[in-house]
Amino acid sequence: MPVYPNTPLHIGGQWRPGAGLALDVVNPATGEVIGKVESAATTDLDDALAAASSGFTVWRRTSPMERAGIMKKAAGLLAERIEKIAPLLTMEQGKPLQQARNEISSAVEIIHWFAEETTRAYGRSIPARMPDVTQDVVREPVGPVAAFTPWNFPINQSVLKLAAALAAGCSIIMKGPEETPASCAELVKAFADAGIPDGVVNLVYGVPSFISTYLISHPIIRKVSFTGSTPVGKALAQLAGQHLKPITLELGGHAPALVFDDADTDDAARVLARAKYYNAGQVCIAPTRLLVHRAVFDQFVAAFENELKAIKTGYGLDPDVTMGPLANERRLAAMLEFVDDAAEHGANILSGGHRIGTRGNYFAPTIVLGATAECRVQRDEPFGPIALINRVDDYAQAVAEANRLPYGLAAYAFSRSARTMNDLARDIEAGMLSINHHGLALPETPFGGVKESGYGTEGGSEGIDAYLTPKFVSKRFI
Ligand code: NAD
Repeated sequence: MPVYPNTPLHIGGQWRPGAGLALDVVNPATGEVIGKVESAATTDLDDALAAASSGFTVWRRTSPMERAGIMKKAAGLLAERIEKIAPLLTMEQGKPLQQARNEISSAVEIIHWFAEETTRAYGRSIPARMPDVTQDVVREPVGPVAAFTPWNFPINQSVLKLAAALAAGCSIIMKGPEETPASCAELVKAFADAGIPDGVVNLVYGVPSFISTYLISHPIIRKVSFTGSTPVGKALAQLAGQHLKPITLELGGHAPALVFDDADTDDAARVLARAKYYNAGQVCIAPTRLLVHRAVFDQFVAAFENELKAIKTGYGLDPDVTMGPLANERRLAAMLEFVDDAAEHGANILSGGHRIGTRGNYFAPTIVLGATAECRVQRDEPFGPIALINRVDDYAQAVAEANRLPYGLAAYAFSRSARTMNDLARDIEAGMLSINHHGLALPETPFGGVKESGYGTEGGSEGIDAYLTPKFVSKRFI
């Protein structure tokens, strides 16, 4: 059994304790306390702010080539450490070991992508009205960043902010996830060990509302980024607005998946089941509302149910396990409430719908048929292993239902018709649409939502934009 470490703060290049009360870290597979995470008080945050300020002065003047070199070295160290870090991620978060490895490998790719982007953050030259005048747009790093990252992908949700900010030349104070701190700290350690200058990357943990209020309000912070729930995102957007700080918000989703009568239904069932139950459904782009044309409904439901046979639920360190426990007790309680409420409203719980065992936060992969719009799970993001399958009659009904909610993060569709694909690309209200496969969340593609799923983009060549600000410089030569 790997030894789970206590997690310190990282401020100004030093790993150190916090002045706040250290918090317990619980293994969601056993309910046991496996370690502690240090907690920041005001003094720690003041030190982090001073460090980020001096770190920014150094990093913004470090050449893009040199920045890219340090970032690639960090990516290399992370890649070398996959087998050490993956079990820590499984122990604190619950996901199966292979999914933990995948998450770290993906972080390595993301760092490489942004390391390359740092050398391509071009400005532009605007033709001037007079021959002795130049008009240039340079893109400068926006300044020290405060980033807030969640527990479902403790490395990946952090690296998207960290790598993009560093590529742009910003320093960062990241508040990592208190429930899953060790893997996020390993990400930061890779950068520290790669030789990033002191103060450029700072990592704190503690009481989220205290830290976010303090950092967002502070004049040193010039940019905010948050991944998490819509209610918290709205509160942070309000605070950022008061202080006129730009904010990127990657919030919840409630992804629709439209299966048309000309789809390959078996393939659709396979793709959607894998995506739905990955990380026990605790994925903001997980397909949740499966809207299936009535002509292929029975066939699809049978195929989807059949996919559940391949899921082995258990402790993620067991190599055969494909679905771990939910990451915390709150999610377990939420799943039970969603299912009870749906059943009370007349829905058919076709599969699962119950806790597994009494130790650990295990919840069975669940299929709910015919949940009406009155059911809570049809409004609130389940963020767990619950799939809702409903019949639709035609394109118009499917699209109306897909767009019904205030969320608009990911959407999926399955059809062989080019016409349907084109119409969907126009009609679906979402930041990302994947048709006939699961093609989202690659380092080189933009990731973000519309409506109450937030604003701003992480990933892709758009990902660095949030951390750059244009400066117009006009010169007349005399
Ligand atoms: P929550 O709303 O309490 O917290 C969500 C995240 O925000 C956590 O990481 C938390 O530490 C952080 N947070 C909470 N209050 C904060 C504050 N004032 N300042 C800064 N950060 C703050 O919910 P939860 O129980 O942790 O998670 C449940 C819900 O969160 C899910 O239903 C899901 O909708 C959402 N969520 C979304 C993502 C995502 O990838 N978009 C990730 C994790 C959680």
